Amino acid sequence: MSVQGTAAAGSGGIIIGVVQKLDAKQHIIPEYHIEDSQHTSEVQRFEAAVAQARLALEQELDALSQHGHGNNLRPILEAHDLMLADPELHSGTVQCIHEENMNVEWALKRCLASFTQAFAHMDDAYLQSRQADIMQVGSRILNQLSAVKPTIFQTTSIIISPDFSPADVVGLWREGVAGFVTAQGGKDSHAMIVARGVGLTGLAGAQALWAQAKDGDRLIVDAERHTWILNPTPEQEQDYQAAVEALQKEQKALQDFVKQTPITQAFNMSLFANVEFVEEVVLANQYGVDGIGLFRTEFLFMQSETLPDEDVQYAYYQGIVQGMRGKPVTFRLLDVGADKLAHARTIFGDYDGENPALGLRGVRMLLHKPELLKTQLRAILRCAHEGDISVLVPMVVSAAEMVAVRKVMLEVQHALKLDKSIDLGCMIEVPAAALIAHDLAKVSDFFSIGSNDLVQYTLAVDRADEHVDYLYDASHPAIYNLIQMAAKAAQQHNIPVTVCGELAASKAWTQAFVDMKINALSMASSSVLMIRKHLSDLHNKL
Ligand code: PEP
Ligand code: MG
Repeated sequence: MSVQGTAAAGSGGIIIGVVQKLDAKQHIIPEYHIEDSQHTSEVQRFEAAVAQARLALEQELDALSQHGHGNNLRPILEAHDLMLADPELHSGTVQCIHEENMNVEWALKRCLASFTQAFAHMDDAYLQSRQADIMQVGSRILNQLSAVKPTIFQTTSIIISPDFSPADVVGLWREGVAGFVTAQGGKDSHAMIVARGVGLTGLAGAQALWAQAKDGDRLIVDAERHTWILNPTPEQEQDYQAAVEALQKEQKALQDFVKQTPITQAFNMSLFANVEFVEEVVLANQYGVDGIGLFRTEFLFMQSETLPDEDVQYAYYQGIVQGMRGKPVTFRLLDVGADKLAHARTIFGDYDGENPALGLRGVRMLLHKPELLKTQLRAILRCAHEGDISVLVPMVVSAAEMVAVRKVMLEVQHALKLDKSIDLGCMIEVPAAALIAHDLAKVSDFFSIGSNDLVQYTLAVDRADEHVDYLYDASHPAIYNLIQMAAKAAQQHNIPVTVCGELAASKAWTQAFVDMKINALSMASSSVLMIRKHLSDLHNKL
């Protein structure tokens, strides 16, 4: 039966494909119905997998004893062993196999979901936190089931998972899948931002789809309107096939705007790309961008198990600068926000702020770890002779932070004997920064307005949480006022101002940005032609 629904966010594009589900650990969990005659063998597979998982656990415990450490880990592993032996886990899974003819992986997943739901509704915070242990125990069994194969994707696959990190999204794009859907995530979560960057069609915050979709189901994802249709009727598929073709035609027509920089020059406005991964540089050039307005350096750090040293960083940044062949590149210093925390243990070590969005992120972390800042600045500034580079400071709330970063930058320049002057810009992404924009303009060479965080912090709404997505709304008048305030201050102090959040790619805002005399808009490369065409339309109306 055909079912439809909406998602919190979409990255653009329309696709028709086949569902492939992954669990939170990126396992493929096959889901299919078995014959009655297969009940016994399926239960035997389950029991064998549990026995193997317990054996593996025993070996882990032995290894801990031999090395004489792991006192903190031991009780956790022992609790996992108890859960593996839990009669309810056994009976719940076996019941799904017998009564609903589910294959063992599916039956186990169903049983684990009912366990975690039961724990989630408990008042006791400790018991609530046991949900993670249940999932880990589930993974231990799934790892043993031979049906858990390495992930193989098809070009028609639409990959559905509870959540994806930005690096996962790039991985899927590299695999050449049709698209993806996550149960969690909001409009400006970094997974969505990266998907827009590479032009991969995806939806975030589609809980109902996650709950209902099964492997092999046909699925339409409309990431233009943030909707989906599971098991569409032939008529619905036909309609969407026509919509896919119309969109392709529209995108082909946009190719005319690859070289139309005179239009943007008429408005004295450059169109830059936001880039997270080196592969995006090729795309940025294909879309004819005027440069990179925001290179999010943290993605390099998040891809690596160890902290990238100066030479590793230099090689990476050099690749970006060379790839842009003389066009300007703005490197934003490391900004590990709340949604990237889980992937950044190499930077944060044991730091685990109660509220990471308000904790040690952006410039706060850099000033807290001056060696990290110095190393990154050295790696960036070593590229200065190979192109037109500038440096951008994230999460600034005071002029003192800009002054402190500039001091370190000048020291590094001196040590490198670099006499070229390098611009140091200030991100305006916290309301306080917009409110003191005059003070910040005195100590900055340019401003870059980060609307994603500006909306998050002004409206006190988590940009990655689908539950409050309805409140994450840039049309709130406070946002316009703060952006205008920052732009005016920049103009009074004669420094350029860029908008680099997702609003830069919103046609609803283009005229306002022209009126505010914004000097550059920096956005996902895949949006640049659309905005250039829009500017051309505005110009023709003059
Ligand atoms: C922003 O906050 O608008 C921004 C561009 O930075 P990020 O999305 O990486 O936080
Ligand atoms: Mg930001």
